Amino acid sequence: HMASPALLMRVVASAYSVAEKAATIVRNIMAAGDLGIVEKTGANDLQTKADRLVQMSICASLARKFPKVTIIGEEELPSDEVTEDLIEDGHCEEILKKTCPAQYTGIKEEELVIWVDPLDGTKEYTEGLLDHVTVLIGIAYGGKAIAGVINQPYYNYEAGAGAVLGRTIWGVLGMGAFGFQLTEAPAGKHIIVTTRSHSNTLVNDCISALNPDSVIRVGGAGNKIIQLIEGKASAYVFASPGCKKWDTCAPEAILHAVGGKITDIHGNAFQYNKDVKHMNSAGVLAALRNYDYYASRIPNTVKQSLVP
Ligand code: AMP
Ligand code: MG
Ligand code: MG
Repeated sequence: HMASPALLMRVVASAYSVAEKAATIVRNIMAAGDLGIVEKTGANDLQTKADRLVQMSICASLARKFPKVTIIGEEELPSDEVTEDLIEDGHCEEILKKTCPAQYTGIKEEELVIWVDPLDGTKEYTEGLLDHVTVLIGIAYGGKAIAGVINQPYYNYEAGAGAVLGRTIWGVLGMGAFGFQLTEAPAGKHIIVTTRSHSNTLVNDCISALNPDSVIRVGGAGNKIIQLIEGKASAYVFASPGCKKWDTCAPEAILHAVGGKITDIHGNAFQYNKDVKHMNSAGVLAALRNYDYYASRIPNTVKQSLVP
């Protein structure tokens, strides 16, 4: 008989459906109009009802199917009973049919860590910049981001009524990434994508030192990786702490699955073990191609200001 699919593929297939449910929750809460905004550390660090309900939905749905997997979500929530309407028990059949890369077939539940950003780009969500928003589910093994799902609930929202709203991008190292058209940025141009709502002098000085042809300022770590893999930008540069492991895990897996590279501003790989520090204190540097070009031009003064 057919061997049952490898655990990793079952987790990714479930995460795909869980992320689609999450996107529905994100859209429904916006449509209902009561965002329930709470400030966390300040006015640029927000949580909405969507962040809260989506995290409950994702974490409870995955924990029910994979009880021994470690799941770490961004939001601190009261350990209330999760209502049954938040649970998604489906999976993507197409993902389950794919062959798991050989190096991952033996993975056990206890060895996986799932990093969940229920809503990345919350500030932009509250300001109506809806296509900046993503739902991020990153899957780590041995401290490395090996698979990820990025759902963009409002993909196509400016295209009008005929267009299909929302999409799900997924990827596994050694397999590739799907749900979008991989596109390289214009050759010979240096287009940098960076934060829109968390800029400071160091962030801007670092970008200036790279002498870019243009700078795109948009919200969300997930959204910025999408800019890289769809050829809108050539590098993601963020010389500041503030980004966390749940922001980078899913984007990293997808970017690495298509041959790109993401590190901190010093060139150090991010670690995703369950007991790792959450903050990416030394910033973010990522590119689909020519990562070394950008890494070699980060000023030492910037590096000295950002301690890993
Ligand atoms: P941004 O590029 O500003 O959208 O940031 C990417 C991710 O990192 C988002 O989830 C932000 O909430 C988070 N982030 C970046 N900088 C900060 C900061 N200074 N305070 C809180 N969160 C931040
Ligand atoms: Mg985030
Ligand atoms: Mg978030």
